[in-house]
Amino acid sequence: MVNKKKDTTVIVGGGHAAGTLLTALLQKKYQHEVVLVSDEPHPPYQRPPLSKSYLAGEVDQSSLYLKPRSVYENAGQQLRLGVRVEGIDRYAKSIKLSDQSTLKYDRLVLATGSHVRRLKAPGSDLKGIHYLHDIADTDALRNQLVPGKRLVIVGGGYIGLEVAASAIKKGVNVTVLEAAERLMQRVTGPEMSTFFYAKHTAAGVDVRLGTAVTGFEAGDKGRVAGVTLADGGNVPADIVLVSIGVIPETTLAENAGLLCDDGIVVDEFTRTDDRDILAIGDCTRHRNLFFEKMQRLESVANAVDQARTAAATLMGEEMPYDSAPWFWSNQYDVRLQMVGLSQNHDQRVLRGTTNDKGFAVFYLLEGSVIAVDAVNLPIAFMVGKQLVQQRKSVSADALSNTDIELKSLI
Ligand SMILES: Cc1cc2nc3c(=O)[nH]c(=O)nc-3n(C[C@H](O)[C@H](O)[C@H](O)COP(=O)(O)OP(=O)(O)OC[C@H]3O[C@@H](n4cnc5c(N)ncnc54)[C@H](O)[C@@H]3O)c2cc1C
Repeated sequence: MVNKKKDTTVIVGGGHAAGTLLTALLQKKYQHEVVLVSDEPHPPYQRPPLSKSYLAGEVDQSSLYLKPRSVYENAGQQLRLGVRVEGIDRYAKSIKLSDQSTLKYDRLVLATGSHVRRLKAPGSDLKGIHYLHDIADTDALRNQLVPGKRLVIVGGGYIGLEVAASAIKKGVNVTVLEAAERLMQRVTGPEMSTFFYAKHTAAGVDVRLGTAVTGFEAGDKGRVAGVTLADGGNVPADIVLVSIGVIPETTLAENAGLLCDDGIVVDEFTRTDDRDILAIGDCTRHRNLFFEKMQRLESVANAVDQARTAAATLMGEEMPYDSAPWFWSNQYDVRLQMVGLSQNHDQRVLRGTTNDKGFAVFYLLEGSVIAVDAVNLPIAFMVGKQLVQQRKSVSADALSNTDIELKSLI
């Protein structure tokens, strides 16, 4: 009897997308060899706690891991950690690694995520200027957050604001500088921005809107001492966190000649324009049947859903990506849950009163619910998920009337 050689599937990346794919392949009893290569020293892990419970010191590092390393290895999946993939040879179907070895693949999955957008301004290489994307970044920042220190956060998006909430609780003096006229402007509507502005200022955070940063001032020993502003002002600082977004990590794909457009372009089955290469997670610009247009999303739900779709594709099944995106953020005692994309709405409906006891904003387009943001109101998020997924038409009066049970609207 001739033993048929097993194919090898190589996954590049060590984030939520790569880790979920490993698990999904295990669950599906995928018969081929699986090798994961990540340039991080950890088994695949989740990033959300990096600006929340892990930064606050409430959970330890191992709780970030999606699974202990032994689970994958006991199941025969290989993890090559701390090794960077430097190139893809699509003709030889092999990848070149930073330890100078090469690895052959039959199928390759790129789950290379994103990297932080750096602020290029005078003084941006001074010590004490932090970014937040991986475990090492949080460890470095957490050590600095001691009472009385002055932390300046550049960027009023959800990561910057989560850090502000943790830091102020630790007795740090926190200033948030946001260039736009409201907080989290890219992802949410004015009601939520106003609510979070009030939360942060009540907690003692100095939030400055419409405030653009032009550079950093040096103090002793090459450390940052302040942040300079476009209006000529200056904010003294002992520590700075720059949190101004991420850029999809497409270098490998671009160098290999794969189609990229602010993200590796993939279809609803996570396939690139090379039939043997898939891509999933933050690094993609993807087709999700739920939307008319291609999307690029930075969220755990997107990483997980695409990883499950990729597992099906690798198994030869057809499971197109077709789900409404969702997201969450924790700041103080507030849990914000969001579903859908609100940007194109033509009507907003507030349910409840904007306070900690729970309220929601429904975003409608031509009468259909396209997105919901819920604060401490999980029922609005759960019902909202179904309304958004079904693109359900619901009257504004019914959505705002708290005497009408939300469940009855599904
Ligand atoms: C601080 C923080 C808080 C967040 N909070 C939330 C939240 O509350 N809710 C939410 O939905 N989302 C949140 N996100 C976003 C979410 O974590 C990302 O959307 C998710 O991690 C995307 O997963 P990914 O696997 O696609 O990419 P990533 O998690 O970025 O993983 C990519 C991996 O690929 C590796 N890699 C890249 N290039 C190479 C290479 N050439 N060779 C080898 N390895 C390589 C990287 O080192 C990394 O391990 C947060 C992100 C951060 C940073």
